[in-house]
Formats: sequence, structure tokens, C-alpha cells
Amino acid sequence: MRYWGIFLLKLGVIYLLIRGLWLALVALLPPPAAFLYHHFRPFGHDLRWTVIILALFLLACGLLYLAVWDQTMRCRSCGRRLRMPVLRGSYSKMLQEGRPQFEYICPFGHGTLSVPGTRFQGREPSSWRANKGLWEHLIAADRRQN
Ligand SMILES: [Zn+2]
Repeated sequence: MRYWGIFLLKLGVIYLLIRGLWLALVALLPPPAAFLYHHFRPFGHDLRWTVIILALFLLACGLLYLAVWDQTMRCRSCGRRLRMPVLRGSYSKMLQEGRPQFEYICPFGHGTLSVPGTRFQGREPSSWRANKGLWEHLIAADRRQN
């Protein structure tokens, strides 16, 4: 739940930022000149406004891309950034052992994200594996040793 809450918060901040920039631009820039007493919509009729709208659109797309990219590297349970990348497998033994993967883990042990180390077919999905009861398992193993 916190994972999606963080994502919705980021989307809300991006919306407010883009909306604020748009309102500031509308307030600060002069309106497009009228052509034969007709006030056309600025996009596509006035070069300055068209360039500004396109730049704002590109900024919004870039921010959305960063928000989604950041969200893929977060823990699905607690929403914290995943850490400690570990390479599983070997590039030199890829034909014998399979493709290597980077594994990122939540600092609180909620799960592990496996990201392919090689991409043969473009964008390939990562896989999330929840570690159920990791700490209980470690505590039980420690008690068995004592
Ligand atoms: Zn976590």
C-alpha cells in the first residue's frame, strides 16, 4: 500500500509542478497576437507559445519517466529504495549457467528484485520475489546454533 502511495504522491507533485509552471507562464508571457481580430488557440498558431507548450510537454514526459523508473527500484512492501546490487551468475559462463542477473534487496529484507544483466530482446521484465519471514528464519537459525 505504501508503494502505491509513494507513486501517487510523486504523480501529484509532478502534476502540481507542471500546473504551476503553466499558470506562471500564462501569467508572465504576453498572450499571442490576434490575427484579423481572431484569437486563435496559441498552440500551432504562435511560435513562442508552441515551443513553450512542447517544452512543458517534454518536461512532463521526462518527469513521468523518472517517476516510473524510480518506482521500479523500490521495495513493493515498504517503498524504500532497493540497495546492495549483487551479480548472480557469470558473463563468461552464460551458455552453461544461464544469463546473469543483478539482485537488489530491500534494506529491511522484504524482498528481492532480479534485473536481467543482459538484454537480448530489448526491455525485459524484472521479477520481484517477496522474502516471507526472512528475519524469523534468521532468528530461528541463530537460536539453533546457541
Ligand atoms: Zn522493504
